Amino acid sequence: MKTEVLRAYRFTLAPSPAQEQKLLRWCGNARLAFNYALAAKKTAHEQWRAQVDTLVAGGIPEAQARKQTKVPIPSKPTVQKAFNAERGDTRAEVEGVCPWWHEVNTYVFQSAFIDADRAWKNWLESFAGKRAGRRVGYPRFKKRGRARDSFRLHHDVKKPGIRLATHRRLRIGSFGEVRLHDSGKRLFRQVARGEAVVQSVTVSRGGHRWYASVLCKVTMDIPDRPTRRQTERGKVGVDLGVKVLAALSKPLPTDGPVKVSGGGLLVDNPRPLRAAMQGLAKAQRVLSRKQKGSKAREKAWQRVGQLHHQVAVRRNAVLHQVTKTLATRFSIVAVENLHVAGMTRSARGTAEAPGRRVRQKAGLNRAILDSAPGELRRQLAYKTSWYGSQLAVLDRWWPSSKTCSDCGWQDTSQTLADRTFHCTNCGLTMDRDLNAALNIERHTETPNVASDRGETQNACRASVRLPGPRAGEQGAAKREDAGLSGPAPPRRSNPPTLPPQGHKQVKLF
Ligand SMILES: [Zn+2]
Repeated sequence: MKTEVLRAYRFTLAPSPAQEQKLLRWCGNARLAFNYALAAKKTAHEQWRAQVDTLVAGGIPEAQARKQTKVPIPSKPTVQKAFNAERGDTRAEVEGVCPWWHEVNTYVFQSAFIDADRAWKNWLESFAGKRAGRRVGYPRFKKRGRARDSFRLHHDVKKPGIRLATHRRLRIGSFGEVRLHDSGKRLFRQVARGEAVVQSVTVSRGGHRWYASVLCKVTMDIPDRPTRRQTERGKVGVDLGVKVLAALSKPLPTDGPVKVSGGGLLVDNPRPLRAAMQGLAKAQRVLSRKQKGSKAREKAWQRVGQLHHQVAVRRNAVLHQVTKTLATRFSIVAVENLHVAGMTRSARGTAEAPGRRVRQKAGLNRAILDSAPGELRRQLAYKTSWYGSQLAVLDRWWPSSKTCSDCGWQDTSQTLADRTFHCTNCGLTMDRDLNAALNIERHTETPNVASDRGETQNACRASVRLPGPRAGEQGAAKREDAGLSGPAPPRRSNPPTLPPQGHKQVKLF
């Protein structure tokens, strides 16, 4: 079955020192444009708030005042117009907010305006309770050194500027050609055969490296059913853990790309953050001793960023190996429905009721997040859809680690510290995680869970996300075969309506 999917191809760039400076400048312009658009929105919002306050002071009830007051929040077209009027021009020696704009690709500005629109919309919808997932905060300005350095160019139908010039060189629109660290042969051929059409490119910095994520519309041959070998192996139960990355109900080959132990049933957890902890602590100690604003501090700070970035790269490599292996080997991959945000909530408590064992819980949280269960699950969701298999999800409350996989007896006294499961009913003694994996294999409902909308969408119910992750801070790093949520091509966005009802308790200004 031929299906069109959005897929990102991520390349590590090898820019020349001059190009690196230029990349940083372009990122700076993207930040400037985002902040410009956000400032325009915030100003309008403040005006609206002030007008409402005046009406309320005049004796009109708050709800009515809100309805009466109309201040449009400027979205991209309006912002663009204002920007063009104010930007100035170095060539004509006109001062302005961005007089060097003609040295930068216009899409750098446009996509930043779009991002500001989206940030505003996300906040509004989250505020109104129309958006699932974690609460989205009031949009903040991007600060140099704080925000991720990145810019995005969209593919221009008239002048297709984003393409691989050779297997080793990527043309990034008017930026020019940049050498690649790795080979772009695969994408080069897919584009040549007409199987992939470039949509956009996002250039970003991670630690000391630069990446280009080329988003393509790819015509993929997606099998509508598992292969015979997948079907023979059938369903596998996966218990995601901390000690081991995952315990499986059926073994993986010990000589495959995934490191396994326990006869192929336990997937080793490299825990990259823990491994890097010592180095990170040292780098942070060095950083803390440098004088603020000094060159040495800047350097030490870069070192910390580099180490964090390495952790993310390593974690990702392992996750991709595991998820691809599971999705291609079995016809159904069964996992628990984990609530990662809830699991990793801080134990700190409040000032009146402080929590207990806060440090221990923080350590456990770090360990859980180091094995990235949410990301593993997300990758499984789209990869099973690519390889003809299915993802099955066990109900969150089903006690998979407290039930005997043999006779069904439940041991309510089991705690996280008990590494083995003993069944007092039938005498079964088994590794706790393996027992859970067997339970997960047996107790998940299979049909069509994976094709259910909830599985193909992310927690934020975002629309065109197939097969998509969130381009957020943790998931930002993408890899060779990762599906990536596509930034929509530039289009006129409707001005967001302002502000939602149910705004009652929080006064923003
Ligand atoms: Zn039993």
